Amino acid sequence: MSTISKLFADARKIVIKFGSNTLAGNEGRINADFLDEFADQAAAMTKSGKQIVVVSSGAQVAGLSTMDKWARKRDIHYRQALCAVGQVELMGAWRRAFEPHGIHVAQILLTQDDFGDPIRTLNMRNTLFTLVDEGIIPVINENDTVSVEEIKIGDNDTLAAQSAILWSADLLILFSDIDGLYDKNPKEFPDAVLVEEVRDIDTARKNISIGATNNFGTGGIATKLDAAKRAAVYGIPTILAHGGRPRSLEELASGSQKGTAFLA
Ligand code: ADP
Repeated sequence: MSTISKLFADARKIVIKFGSNTLAGNEGRINADFLDEFADQAAAMTKSGKQIVVVSSGAQVAGLSTMDKWARKRDIHYRQALCAVGQVELMGAWRRAFEPHGIHVAQILLTQDDFGDPIRTLNMRNTLFTLVDEGIIPVINENDTVSVEEIKIGDNDTLAAQSAILWSADLLILFSDIDGLYDKNPKEFPDAVLVEEVRDIDTARKNISIGATNNFGTGGIATKLDAAKRAAVYGIPTILAHGGRPRSLEELASGSQKGTAFLA
């Protein structure tokens, strides 16, 4: 059994995060086929007893394809407005994906402040547990309307790690547009080598070079390492993998798709 398939086998509560680059097709719209394929796999997993919480980026991308005339607006209020419009589109896409499986989705929008307040975290935790117990898939995103730059979580890798900790998840999966952590940026260096297992994140960080991010990506590989480290402190392992390969979730679970396993 591969390390990654063992992590799957041992996990019941799984948080799965999608980056914007994974959710959006080349033309910058939310890729409905992709969501359908994921929902299909997630539905099968929940039937076999796993519980899934989704952390979904993509509000800005979805907003841009809806309000394309706002594409050039840089004003912060327009960007927040764009996310507010896009969040509806994004949730619509998630709802449509899970509908054929008779599974409801629920929207949870969070900010950094929410994680610092014990009453709020308790409420969030209870809501998450209730939703999941009822067979609903919660879809978490940052609440961009209230999150101005200074107080922003800023990237959904961190949000996903915080959510995994809050829910006491067994496994965190970060789906990106690369197969995992490489010794150097695979987009710039075709000879980059995949690191399949990381036991010590600080050492791994020293041994790789971190390249630039691309298109709609925000955090890049650095925030993924931070997120994995955050989760590891709480005993939660992280898998970083390509979300856009055919049947990624199932292929990872069966050990046929490669990725990086960050062991807790
Ligand atoms: P997402 O939108 O999925 O969160 P990002 O675009 O923010 O993803 O970050 C992933 C990107 O980080 C990859 O597409 C890759 O080009 C870049 N990157 C830079 N350095 C590395 C590295 N050492 N290993 C893997 N990816 C790297």
